[in-house]
Amino acid sequence: MFRVESVGLWRFWSHTVAGPGNGKLSPKCRKCLSIRQVRDDCCQGLSGYNPAMMERALEILKQRYGYPAFRGSQAAVIETALQGRDSVVLMPTGGGKSICYQIPGMIRDGLALVVSPLIALMQDQVYALRQLGFNAAFLNSSLTPDQRQQINRQLDCNQVEILYVAPERLVQPDTLQRLAQCKLSLIAIDEAHCVSQWGHDFRQDYLALGMLRKYFPGTPRMALTATANQRTRQEIADKLELNSPAFFISSFDRPNIKYLVQPKIDARKQLQTFLQTHQGESGIVYCLSRKKVEQTADWINSRGYTALPYHAGFDSETRASHQQRFLVEDGIIMVATIAFGMGIDKPDVRFVAHLDLPKSMESYYQETGRAGRDGLPADAWMVYGLQDVVRLSRMLAESHASEQFKRVERSKLEALLGWCEVSRCRRIALLEYFGESRDAPCGNCDICITPPQTWDATVDAQKLLSCIVRTGQRFGAAHVIDVLKGKSSDKIEQHRHHQLGTFGIGADKSDPHWRSIIRQLMVQGFLFADAQRYGALTLNEKSRPLLRGESELTLRQDAVVAKSASRSPAKPRANVPPGIQGQDAELWQALKTCRMELAKANGVPPYVIFHDSTLEEMMFRQPRTLEEMLSISGVGETKLARYGEKFLSILCADN
Ligand code: ADP
Ligand code: ZN
Repeated sequence: MFRVESVGLWRFWSHTVAGPGNGKLSPKCRKCLSIRQVRDDCCQGLSGYNPAMMERALEILKQRYGYPAFRGSQAAVIETALQGRDSVVLMPTGGGKSICYQIPGMIRDGLALVVSPLIALMQDQVYALRQLGFNAAFLNSSLTPDQRQQINRQLDCNQVEILYVAPERLVQPDTLQRLAQCKLSLIAIDEAHCVSQWGHDFRQDYLALGMLRKYFPGTPRMALTATANQRTRQEIADKLELNSPAFFISSFDRPNIKYLVQPKIDARKQLQTFLQTHQGESGIVYCLSRKKVEQTADWINSRGYTALPYHAGFDSETRASHQQRFLVEDGIIMVATIAFGMGIDKPDVRFVAHLDLPKSMESYYQETGRAGRDGLPADAWMVYGLQDVVRLSRMLAESHASEQFKRVERSKLEALLGWCEVSRCRRIALLEYFGESRDAPCGNCDICITPPQTWDATVDAQKLLSCIVRTGQRFGAAHVIDVLKGKSSDKIEQHRHHQLGTFGIGADKSDPHWRSIIRQLMVQGFLFADAQRYGALTLNEKSRPLLRGESELTLRQDAVVAKSASRSPAKPRANVPPGIQGQDAELWQALKTCRMELAKANGVPPYVIFHDSTLEEMMFRQPRTLEEMLSISGVGETKLARYGEKFLSILCADN
């Protein structure tokens, strides 16, 4: 420990010289001669930066990654790191965060250190970097002692360019000591929102990362995240002790994701209709309970698709093998609880379907964000119903958390429900929730595509509310609907509800109609399901004027679910991009087979060889030479040398 301290101290002093001041020696930076900030940020803007570095950055992007231009704020983030400044980078999933630290890490002198909490993701990134010809390595608990030693030796000989390390490993004294002897080019802290104690991914080890400032003064640090509101952003900067960081906040928008939300009427039938639009494609179906995960996976399999279940109740071997198949094979549908997804950066997930409501907008955004990381069109589809609303509020009421925590959770749930029921562009409403404004409707959500019909629900709402009052505000939705519809049941007999004036006054309308009204009234705050009393519906101040006929109510017409989803099981179909038929489809298949063979030979998932979007571009542009091949987005020099000939031979054989 002492050794590390002393190395850090040595670095600090090596940047400083004695200067005048009050007769004492006060330190001054050798480079900028400033006595203002003599510590780690003393030479900001002067730490060896020159504008030619940005040209080099673009060159690396083109040559190694095969991409023609930087996206969004990437160039600005990279320039800031090259200047030696700290930063907080907020970019949505798939926005391209990795390049932001990988490229300056290559350009600045020394080893780039990447702190990442997700072991699976770490391996993926390292494999992908090796495919690009970089010398990357990782240190985490999955390594054998021999492997760890080998990496340590490489570190000692300065052979590693990028090192991914788990936070708990990094903060161990021997790791810090070893790293203190390496020259670090920069430190990237991925998933930086894990420092937030209020967030859903809090990790104790992240709190210790503030000490990096002391151990590696002068090394620029970059904190990256896809989920952080204003408060969390500041918390990241504070807890990580960043030096006056630059903030780069990109839009939360994921324009390639289409948001589709439907009231739950017959969930399986609805899911089946939805899956028919995604035959042969990879996707995730989220359910709340383990039992439902297993039942749903069985059912999807029986419809002719390939589904695998995933939840924390399976042993680690089963989980790992299901995850591996999902990553490597085409067209697997993962049916999972939220235990699945953290650290999955499979780029070609074409849909995320929710059969149960998540607990907040944050969770919803994070879970749906796993779709379409490659930027190609993807769907976020969800069904939700009255039962979800009641169940979630009951779970909250029964939890042992503090009242304050429950209040926060409840308001988060309300925000999500309100969003489910919106009648304006969903994307606008989603972005607003995350503090972003946008004027134009997106044209890529269910509301924009099919604007919902509204209807005057005043009379029906009065019937419902008075039925609730007459039955004593003691019963849940199912019983209230039975009374409205005039059904006979033991419970009705027992409570003599058939003698009430409201018995049967709603017989002319269907059960789903009444459920839709109850759900919307609950979401709009006219009705409350008392979790302490088994979901008994109760009125409040807001509902009284409606009951008395003093106010009017307009509600959304729930979309009608197609009467019969096809009963025949899905025919297995290749995952062919839209508009590709005949010979082209064969060529597409041949390219994918070639990719799969290369992936197997290299022991990596197919998308690490090339993304779908790269194969598509090959198909449409039909390069005939290696040089033409190099102009395809996603083909850099290393991959060209490794795989170019193979893919060319397929493209040329075609004609
Ligand atoms: P994030 O970590 O933000 O979710 P990644 O760094 O994994 O995103 O990048 C998402 C995908 O976008 C990757 O496949 C990456 O190669 C690609 N990508 C990143 N930057 C660019 C760019 N400038 N041009 C084209 N593709 C890019
Ligand atoms: Zn829209």
